[in-house]
Amino acid sequence: MSGFELIKINDNSWRIESDMVRAYLFVGTKKALLVDSLNVSAPLSELVKNVTELPVMLVNTHADPDHITCNDQFEAAYMHPAEFALYRKNKKKNDAPAMPLWNGDIIDLGGRTFEVIHIPGHTCGSIALLDRENRVLVSGDTISASPIFIFGPFRDIHALQLSLQILKDRSSDYDRIYTSHGEYQVGVDQIDKILACSKELLAGHITAEEPPFPLPAKMYRYNGAGFYFDPADF
Ligand SMILES: [Zn+2]
Repeated sequence: MSGFELIKINDNSWRIESDMVRAYLFVGTKKALLVDSLNVSAPLSELVKNVTELPVMLVNTHADPDHITCNDQFEAAYMHPAEFALYRKNKKKNDAPAMPLWNGDIIDLGGRTFEVIHIPGHTCGSIALLDRENRVLVSGDTISASPIFIFGPFRDIHALQLSLQILKDRSSDYDRIYTSHGEYQVGVDQIDKILACSKELLAGHITAEEPPFPLPAKMYRYNGAGFYFDPADF
């Protein structure tokens, strides 16, 4: 796939797919919410305008480069303040300035609200967004059926475990999880799979594999979940 592709999920939700990562567009009656801005330079704001004329709020689940590439097409990029340092490191000169979103903040699109849940681990300021009316959790990179990056600076597997527990404690509020990588939709049971994998990894029970692409880390997989992890971080 070159560039990106807009795929409708339902009447007011879209996913925007590029080769390696996806963004989401959610539309209410008053405004729209764009979650992340892909890993390719593409006319993303134009694409959004073709879907809705409502004002669009850009929220970054976190500030890894594959989630912020089109941030230069927007006036503001909302994210958790614990992510500002990583954003400063990764942003390009003309990227939108960072604006704060705190744990518990409610983003009201009109007829549809998203709650911000701070889930440090994959990065310090990673957030999930809970679409309360539609019972969907938008997880960023914290939940995935493919291996999760948890090596190097700004990342911590113990913090991730605590954040997975926070999401598990809220699991009566949602039925599905929309991810950024791999399969777009996973079940709530994926949280348990990732938690189990993290415990087995830290207990030394999983054999390290070489990643399928060059990385300063090893790949660890267990029962439908996985990590790219560097034991030298501990
Ligand atoms: Zn990512």
